[in-house]
Amino acid sequence: MNFSNSYQMICNDCGEKYEADSFRLSCDRHHPPALLRAVYPQKQLQKKTLPGIFQYIDWLPIERHLEIEGKPITYHSEKLGHHLGLDNLFISFNGYFPEKNAKLLTCSFKELEAYTVLARIPQNYPLTLVVASAGNTGRAFTSICSELNIPFLLVIPEKNTSAIFSHKPYNDCVQMVVVVNSDNYSDAINLAKKISNLEGYFPEGGVQNIARRAGLGIPVIDAVMEIGRIPHHYFQAIGSGSGGIAAYEANLLFLEDGRFGNNYMKLHLSQNTPFTPIVNAWQSSSSEINYSSDVETRKQIRGVIAKVLTNQNPAYSVTGGLYEALTKTQGEMYAVTNEELEKTRILFESLEGIDISPSAGVATASLIQAINLRKVRKNDYILLNITSGGVKKFKQDYQIYSLLPSKIG
Ligand SMILES: *Cc1c(COP(=O)(O)O)cnc(C)c1O
Ligand SMILES: [Zn+2]
Repeated sequence: MNFSNSYQMICNDCGEKYEADSFRLSCDRHHPPALLRAVYPQKQLQKKTLPGIFQYIDWLPIERHLEIEGKPITYHSEKLGHHLGLDNLFISFNGYFPEKNAKLLTCSFKELEAYTVLARIPQNYPLTLVVASAGNTGRAFTSICSELNIPFLLVIPEKNTSAIFSHKPYNDCVQMVVVVNSDNYSDAINLAKKISNLEGYFPEGGVQNIARRAGLGIPVIDAVMEIGRIPHHYFQAIGSGSGGIAAYEANLLFLEDGRFGNNYMKLHLSQNTPFTPIVNAWQSSSSEINYSSDVETRKQIRGVIAKVLTNQNPAYSVTGGLYEALTKTQGEMYAVTNEELEKTRILFESLEGIDISPSAGVATASLIQAINLRKVRKNDYILLNITSGGVKKFKQDYQIYSLLPSKIG
């Protein structure tokens, strides 16, 4: 099966349309930076009998489907919902939770973006895909590329390499380059940029890649199909903001679909104090992020437990980015402390029966803040994105292999 030409891309700035293309990351016209948005001929989503997320292929900008089963699962939360006094709390669980049949074995929603990014590239494409990551994205791509025998190179700060593990030994198509002595994601991004310009390599593109955002939007697609309506509220912890934009873009597709309601989901997005650049910008009604000094930023990042939320270049001001999504949905931003997130992780595990990662603790804690601030009502439909969970359980149930760094060039 070949699904090429099944999607188009529209520039969020000038409206220029582009036909399906596996590698296009941006508009050719001259204007301020803008994201492209994927649009599909199939306005009403029909589930297909394909594995995992590929049942939603109507709304994925891809060439082909992968033979892989993982997907988010959406369930109605009885216990946490009851504890918080919410009748319609739905959880999108992205990770490992065998009792609920949740089997993203790299334990985060980054695995969804790996599926869609890889499925956008033609089969047997000979060049090596390069991605910079501080953790979950790297774990997702290395595992899935190894599984499917796709050439892949990860660039990662040395201090983060313990995040790269799998339940199977790695295949040689996957390589890892470390930035020695670094604990900073920006260092990895800079090196990845250089490597992806070398012959034989190509860049993934980060938030600019429509397939990445389509993958991160799948929790919303799955939830709307399960619940039968567009929720009123969406809670997620953010770093780059890609997942927030993705949730909004999925919302736009459902508005065009028309069968699931006509509301915008209010985005309730959160970061971990003391590194909260997006919270600060949004709460001061600014469409630009006011960056602290490098020394101050590094200090803030060291003080954060949910490290995956410490992206220093979020997709906030870019046209079609997070500022717009928050504006359109009358969104809210929350700052969550380390103490709050740790307390909330324990609460979640005791009620729902599965461990969750720090960033998911941040999102859940922001829901508690929203309840206290009366930003949500008892019978509102609420979608809580547990972006990562089940790492502890996964490590109990599986033998773990790690990846050794390689030398290139
Ligand atoms: C990357 C990541 C986030 C933040 O996602 P963005 O939408 O890219 O800001 C949240 N939680 C987990 C587990 C992540 O890996
Ligand atoms: Zn344009």
